[in-house]
Amino acid sequence: MVGGGAAGLMAAGQAAEEGANTLLLEKMKRPGRKLCITGKGRCNVTNIAAAADFVSHFGKTGPFLRQAFFQFFNTDLIDFLQGLGLELVTERGGRVFPASGKASDVLNVLIKWLHRCRVQIKPSSAVDKLLMSSGKVTGVMSRGRRFPCDAVILTTGGGSYPATGSTGDGYRLGKSAGHKVVPIRPALVPLETSGNVAGKMAGLQLRNVKVRMLINGKKRKEGFGEVAFTEFGVTGPVILTMSGDAVDAMRESHNVVFSIDLKPALDEKKLDARLLRDFASRTKEPFNSLLRGLLPHEMVPVCLDLTGISPERTAANISAKERRRLRRWLKDFRLEASRPRPLSEAIITAGGIDTGEVDPRTMESRQTKGLFMAGEILDIQADTGGYNLQAAFSTGWLAGRSAAAEK
Ligand SMILES: Cc1cc2nc3c(=O)[nH]c(=O)nc-3n(C[C@H](O)[C@H](O)[C@H](O)COP(=O)(O)OP(=O)(O)OC[C@H]3O[C@@H](n4cnc5c(N)ncnc54)[C@H](O)[C@@H]3O)c2cc1C
Repeated sequence: MVGGGAAGLMAAGQAAEEGANTLLLEKMKRPGRKLCITGKGRCNVTNIAAAADFVSHFGKTGPFLRQAFFQFFNTDLIDFLQGLGLELVTERGGRVFPASGKASDVLNVLIKWLHRCRVQIKPSSAVDKLLMSSGKVTGVMSRGRRFPCDAVILTTGGGSYPATGSTGDGYRLGKSAGHKVVPIRPALVPLETSGNVAGKMAGLQLRNVKVRMLINGKKRKEGFGEVAFTEFGVTGPVILTMSGDAVDAMRESHNVVFSIDLKPALDEKKLDARLLRDFASRTKEPFNSLLRGLLPHEMVPVCLDLTGISPERTAANISAKERRRLRRWLKDFRLEASRPRPLSEAIITAGGIDTGEVDPRTMESRQTKGLFMAGEILDIQADTGGYNLQAAFSTGWLAGRSAAAEK
C-alpha cells in the first residue's frame, strides 16, 4: 500500500482482513493528515443520497464508480464505521459526520482497526519507484530500500493541500507503469475575479443568494446558498460547486461570469414595490443610508460605485431610472472570474490516472498486472457533501480485497 489517506487505510485493512500480509508505506510522519482537516475538521465521511443521485454528483467521472459503490456504498461505510465504535450523525443535505464533531476520531478508529488486522504501518516512507518485470509489478522502492510484493495499491491522493503529503507523486508512479494521466486541474477551488470589487468586500459572507454562472453570456449552472468574498475573489459552497466547470471553461479561454441575485425571494415587481415603500417612508434620508437597510454595510460602497447613484441624493430625489438601475443591480450583481486559485488551495484535484485503463470491477491496472489504484489519484471528482471521501473508501475497499486475491 502506497499512501495512508482514506483510500489507503481502507484498502490496507481490507487486504489484511482477506488474509494478505500488508505493509502500508506512508510518506508523512503520520497517516491521514488530509482526513483530519476534512469538513472543516469535522470530516463529512459520506452522504445518504440514493445511488443514482450520488453518482450524479461525480459528473462524467461517475459511471466508473458504479461497481465500487455497488459493492461498498454509503450504508456499508456507515455500518462499518459504527462497527468500529464511531458514532455518526446525519445533518442537512444528507451529510454524515462523526457525532463527536472530530475528524481525528475517524482516523483513530481506522488506525486501531489496522493494528487489530496486523497491518504494518511504516511512516516517513515515501515510495519513489515501482518495481516491475514482464508487465507485472514486483515491489516498490522507498528511500533506497526495496520492498518486494505480489501486489501494490497506489493510494497517494491528488495534488491539492500538499502540506498533507498529497503532492501528486502517484501520477509519476502511474505513468512509469504505462498509465495516461488526464490533465490535473484544481476543483472545488476559490476563484479570482477581475478588478478589485470582491477585495473591497473581503470577509463578507452572503447567505441565501442565488448565483447563476454564465459562460460566454449563456447560463450554464445555477445555485442557491452561501457566497463569500476574499481579497482576491469569491468562494463559499455555491462557488466551489461551480468551480470545476468554471476552471474548465477558463482553460478554453471562455468568459466566465457569476451573476448574483441578492434578493432572490423578491421578483422585480415585488422588489420595486419594496424600494418605493422604503423611499416613501424615508424621503429625507440620503441614498447611502437607505442602502444600509438593504445590504450588508461592506456592500454599500460597491453598490454606490456600480450603480453610479450619488450617496448624498435623498430618497425623494431618486429618479425612476436610478431606481431601476438599483433594482437591476440587486438582482444581477456581476463578477467576472479571471482564474482559479492554485491547485494547492483546491479541495480536490480534477484529472488523474485515466479510469479507462483501470478495471472498475477490481481497481486493477489494465497496463500492469498486480498494480491497483484507489481514491483521488484516479480521474474522479465530485461536489462537496461527503461524495469524495465515499469514493476514496469505496475504491479503497475494492482495491484492498482485489489485491489480496493476487498471489
Ligand atoms: C480542506 C479539505 C476538506 C475536505 N473535506 C472533505 C469532506 O468533508 N468530505 C469529503 O468527502 N471530502 C473532503 N475533502 C476531499 C477528501 O479529503 C479527498 O478526496 C480524500 O482525502 C482523498 O483520499 P485519498 O486517500 O485518495 O488521498 P489522501 O487523503 O490525499 O491521502 C494520500 C496519502 O498518500 C500519501 N502519499 C503521497 N505520496 C506518497 C508517496 N510517494 N509515498 C507514500 N505515501 C505517499 C500522503 O502523504 C497521504 O497520506 C476535503 C479535502 C480538503 C483538502
